[in-house]
Formats: sequence, C-alpha cells, structure tokens
Amino acid sequence: MFSFKNYIAVTSLEEAYDELLKNKKNIILGGTSYLRMGNVAYNTAIDLSNLELDYIKEGETCIHIGAMASFRDLEINEITQQLFDGVLDRCVRGILGVQFRSNVRVGATVFSKYGFSDLIPTLLAMDSTVVLYKGGEISLEEYLKEESLRRDILVEIKIKKEGRGSFQSIRKSKTDYAITNTCVTKIDNKIRVAIGVRPGKAVLSYRAMEILNNNERTEEIIDRACEAMSEEISFGSNMRGTAEYRRAVSKNLVKRAIQEVL
Ligand SMILES: Cc1cc2nc3c(=O)[nH]c(=O)nc-3n(C[C@H](O)[C@H](O)[C@H](O)COP(=O)(O)OP(=O)(O)OC[C@H]3O[C@@H](n4cnc5c(N)ncnc54)[C@H](O)[C@@H]3O)c2cc1C
Repeated sequence: MFSFKNYIAVTSLEEAYDELLKNKKNIILGGTSYLRMGNVAYNTAIDLSNLELDYIKEGETCIHIGAMASFRDLEINEITQQLFDGVLDRCVRGILGVQFRSNVRVGATVFSKYGFSDLIPTLLAMDSTVVLYKGGEISLEEYLKEESLRRDILVEIKIKKEGRGSFQSIRKSKTDYAITNTCVTKIDNKIRVAIGVRPGKAVLSYRAMEILNNNERTEEIIDRACEAMSEEISFGSNMRGTAEYRRAVSKNLVKRAIQEVL
C-alpha cells in the first residue's frame, strides 16, 4: 500500500500544479487503484476531486472527457455509448468489476501511458488529443511517443465527434490483463489502426494505414495491410504470451476490426 505525509484537496488546477512542483515526491491522485498496488512513500497527495473534472460533454466539434471521469462513466454515458459505435464502452467493459471501473480514472490512465491499457489504443485510434495543464493540447499520438512522463496534470481528453470504430482484444481469463488488443477507426473515410498490449505502450501501424487509405479496400488489400502491420509493429513476450503468439493473434484481431468498421 502506498502512503503519504500530507493530503491536500485543491480548489484550482493552478494550486494543484504549484503543489506538484514543490517536491519530487508529491503526486496527483486519480482513483488510486494503481497507486495502491505499489509500496511507495510519497510526500503530498494532491486530490483533484473538488475540481469537477469528472465530466463527459459535447462541444461544437469535439467530445470532452474530464480527467476524473471514471471507466464506468465511459460505459454508461449516453455520449460515449454512441461515439464511434460505442468503442469506449466496449474497451473498458471487460475490465474487472463495476466497483473497480467506477473508481479508476481516465486522466490517470492516459497520463501514465500504461502498456497493458485497453483504453489508450482505443483513444489513439480515435485520433484524440490530450490537454495538459502546463503543456497545453497535443495529440495522444505525439504524447505517447515521448519516452518519459512529464511533470504535469492531464486535464481532459478531446475526441472528434464523427467516426466508426471497432475494439478487439483477447484475454486468458475474464479478469486478467489483455494478451493483446487493437482498435480500428474510420474517420472521414480514413482508417486508423492502433495496437495495444504488445505488451509495450500503444502504437499506430502506419504501414497498414497507408495501404488501407491508398487502395480500394478489397479482401486482398485488407490481408496485405494486416501482414504489413505484423511486420512493422514490434511485439514482445511476457507471462501472458510470446511475441510470436501476439503477432499471430494481432493479425486476426486487426482484420476483424477492419472488416467491422468497413
Ligand atoms: C488490479 C488491476 C487490474 C487492472 N486491469 C486492467 C485491465 O485489464 N485493462 C486496463 O486497461 N487497465 C487495467 N488496470 C488499470 C486501470 O484501468 C487504471 O488505468 C489504473 O488503475 C490507473 O487509474 P487510477 O485511477 O487507479 O490511477 P491512480 O492509481 O490514482 O494514479 C496512477 C498514476 O497517475 C497519476 N495521475 C492520476 N491522475 C492524474 C492526472 N489527472 N494527471 C497526471 N497524473 C495523474 C498518479 O499520480 C499516478 O502516478 C488495472 C489496474 C489494477 C490496479
């Protein structure tokens, strides 16, 4: 279990950020499900609960998801249920139980770039952007490419309103982490293919996307794109599966997802 010396429920993002910078051992609290798995002693725990960041709302061009929205919110909110054929609901629905999903937060997850995440590849395929308190707005694609974690606060995620989507994953048992997963979307007739749990952090398959977006999408082209994805993306091994297994399964998941969005 993690511990901390001081606790502060901030009343503004500015206060949260100032507090975060005061000490290397100060941390932002999300739902704390992940923090509780560690045994780290922190200095000050900064709670964002009073900042009303648990929203999911529709703007003129985008859907805005606040950092403190929970996975359960993604599942039951009418906006996210409709968005991209409900991929946000589908990607989190299988993660442990309702109590757990009511506790874990979107902002904590995306900020941390977890390689095992089901949500991050989905948001990546949706061409989302992240809004950071200090760093401003950047695409999730660019954010994930950064090796280290910034000293910043994730405020919200922005997602375009229109698109089709399919999320596919495979697990050994219902409550385990995924062995691998994928999300494919179609936005303005452009396909995006994201692969997660490689088991490293989620990436796009640029070669698959190039093939699918520059050719008529016949069965043969879809197979070529899946083959190109499996050559381009690096997969690794861990206790849940070997790199070869992940590569083989991923090809099939991607094919299924492409067919679904088409
Ligand atoms: C037992 C277990 C099983 C899981 N299984 C799955 C699974 O199958 N699939 C899946 O996708 N995920 C899974 N997860 C991960 C889970 O879905 C969340 O991604 C994870 O718990 C982080 O969310 P949290 O709210 O608990 O974050 P916390 O534990 O509160 O925080 C995690 C980190 O994020 C930082 N942080 C929090 N909020 C912010 C913010 N707004 N800005 C900047 N930094 C912030 C914290 O300081 C901390 O470093 C699992 C987690 C656990 C504990």
